[in-house]
Amino acid sequence: MRDFPITHLKILAGLATVLVILWIFSLPTGESAAPETQPTQTSLSMPIPLVKTNTQSKATSSNSGNNTSSPEPILPPPLKIKIRSGDNLSNIFARNGLSAGDLQRILSTEPAKILAELTPGQTIEIQSDDSGAITLLRYQIDPARTLIAQRTSSGFSTSFIEESPEIRLVVRQGTITRETPSLYHAGKAAGLTDHLIMELASLFQWDISFALDLREGDRFSLIYETLSIKGEDIGTGQLLGAKFINLKETHTALFFQNKMGAKGYFDKTGQSLRKAFIRDPVHFSYVSSSFNLNRKHPIHKKTMPHRGIDYAANRGTPVLAAGDGRVIKAERNEASGNFIVLQHGEQYITKYLHLSKFHSGIKVGNRVGQGQIIGYVGATGWATGPHLHYEFLVNGVHRNPRTVRLPNADPIASSDLAAFQIATQSILESLDTS
Ligand SMILES: [Zn+2]
Repeated sequence: MRDFPITHLKILAGLATVLVILWIFSLPTGESAAPETQPTQTSLSMPIPLVKTNTQSKATSSNSGNNTSSPEPILPPPLKIKIRSGDNLSNIFARNGLSAGDLQRILSTEPAKILAELTPGQTIEIQSDDSGAITLLRYQIDPARTLIAQRTSSGFSTSFIEESPEIRLVVRQGTITRETPSLYHAGKAAGLTDHLIMELASLFQWDISFALDLREGDRFSLIYETLSIKGEDIGTGQLLGAKFINLKETHTALFFQNKMGAKGYFDKTGQSLRKAFIRDPVHFSYVSSSFNLNRKHPIHKKTMPHRGIDYAANRGTPVLAAGDGRVIKAERNEASGNFIVLQHGEQYITKYLHLSKFHSGIKVGNRVGQGQIIGYVGATGWATGPHLHYEFLVNGVHRNPRTVRLPNADPIASSDLAAFQIATQSILESLDTS
């Protein structure tokens, strides 16, 4: 009988808190052996007795003492089908002379929806009985997840088996030197992937200008998870913490997720590293007209205050919500063209003008998250070329979005502070000693 070693340590992205502690003190134990007869629904990962459902249940419902002497049924060897580009389940079934009825029955179950898109190169394994009826279909979605469709008396039952990756924590350190003057170079020298370097940069983006402020001797260290299954490396997991010493000032970022699932990076005291607003709501642009209350208007040729910032960018460049908030206007008028107004809490309002179009789902009343695409750069309304005109209002007063002091995002709730300190203590110690 096939045996799948499965532990119940289900890895949710960012379950770092408990995991780290668990991991440090013990490797995943053999908590895998759930009762075979009554698999409970508490976890997705169940050791399903593959291939032999019927004999298995008969054996256990009769005399358990005789299990070992149950005769093994003789089955044809399973069909292993390598998925080719352009394959779908229908043509795979047709090509291999498999039952279209079984195909329908399998596809009518909810988890099998994932079979609508097959990954070329992966393998589907199909077990049939001697009458040609499919008894089991097994599809490995990725190294961590397998779909199993198993025949039952009434059709098929499908479920996912999640293989828990083994998690290791890795500490890496780097230094800005003459040879590695940028974060990218120093990160590469420290053995970081491009992705981790980006994450590190985005963690401290509010506090460190990596383009302007780096100096020789600046140092960083970080701790992150690496995941493997059966010894095979499947990538990095959560970045759990990082420290950056820039111009002799130490910045610390600690990952935390609370019981409600809210997560983020915080400093030692539980303050968010994030600001409530991003400075520039459009990437890939340059400031073509600054905030200026005495500007001569380019079209009207008279002094008209410019109460915002113009970002010149290609038509269609995504425009991002500067902060979490709610859409209070998404409409069009002669001067502003297509424009969006967002309300952020009680005090803050941001405005985005001259859009070529709104992003789908942007409607008055809808919530948006910081960095979410709300529209696209255009030249609608009074505009001489494609650009975003962006305004930032505090208590109804226009402020310069480039220089206004941005409020911090919410800190750790006081009710979570104790849990935060416990969860991040060992990470902090590792960062401090590295
Ligand atoms: Zn403007």
